[in-house]
Amino acid sequence: MPELPADTDRFIVELDAAVEAHMSWTRRILRCAVLRSTPGEDVLDLQAHTLCHFGGWFMANRSHFEILDAQSAGRVEAVHQTMHDAIRSICREILTGRPGREADLEAFEQSQSELLGLLARFKTLILSTAVRRDPLTQLPLRYGIEHDFALYQKEARRNRTLLYVVIIDVDHFKPINDTYGHPVGDRVLRHLADTLKRSLRDDEPLYRYGGEEFLWLLKCKSATEARQSARRVLAIVGTTPVPIDNNEVLRLTVTLGLAQAGEREDLANVIERADQALYEGKSNGRNRYVIAES
Ligand code: GH3
Ligand code: MG
Ligand code: MG
Repeated sequence: MPELPADTDRFIVELDAAVEAHMSWTRRILRCAVLRSTPGEDVLDLQAHTLCHFGGWFMANRSHFEILDAQSAGRVEAVHQTMHDAIRSICREILTGRPGREADLEAFEQSQSELLGLLARFKTLILSTAVRRDPLTQLPLRYGIEHDFALYQKEARRNRTLLYVVIIDVDHFKPINDTYGHPVGDRVLRHLADTLKRSLRDDEPLYRYGGEEFLWLLKCKSATEARQSARRVLAIVGTTPVPIDNNEVLRLTVTLGLAQAGEREDLANVIERADQALYEGKSNGRNRYVIAES
């Protein structure tokens, strides 16, 4: 699954640099048009849109843009190419002593303006997405759950499938902090988040719900399948020890509380039932899953 850039600050700096490189390219073209000097082979090349700094950077990072808004990412690519095509055409006319065509100039102006608008929108989107993501585990925080849950609940109704809200809580996590210190506790959480993410399907979102608690939206066709998925998570966590210092490893277990979402049930209600199931699992010895009564 494509990921958002892990280091948002660096990504924004690179995006700004790519836009700045594009603007200095525009200034170079303007100078050529006014002074009638050749703009250089990179501008006249049929693949100019892949040779410029912005084009190269965008293609290398396309997946980050796609995950945010696939349609706009496609549009960036298209308008960027249109802009280069228009400039090539204008430069060719000028170099043969003719004035550039008005239609080309308009295509250039429009595509450049659309490109800059799209990039400004992406910048806002990247920053607003980053604040909803947990810096420790890179998982989304709880803000988006309501929205995703509503979509999944609708989809389950339409497809006659089931949707479970699952709360996953690390067993005896506090003693890990107390024994090894908070930074090791942090590393354990990061490792566990990676393990959980790898064990879930791409279309089953996982959120960092609270301190050592994760929330998982589980889509399945039957209660049997939900039980299998819960067992799979327990098995994977149980068989993936976390490496810590001095060649030592920590073996973790988790407890899962599952609640099947009613067709029109409120998220808060489903979470409350999943929480009760979790509590029951903790009381009954941990390292297990419990499914709430519907
Ligand atoms: P139980 O099996 O009943 O769930 O016991 P527990 O020790 O896991 O649960 P408890 O609620 O007593 O403790 C959770 C601990 O998680 C307490 C808190 O300090 C720690 N914690 C919460 N968030 C973080 C974090 O981001 N990093 C670290 N290192 N610790 C955290
Ligand atoms: Mg807890
Ligand atoms: Mg716990």
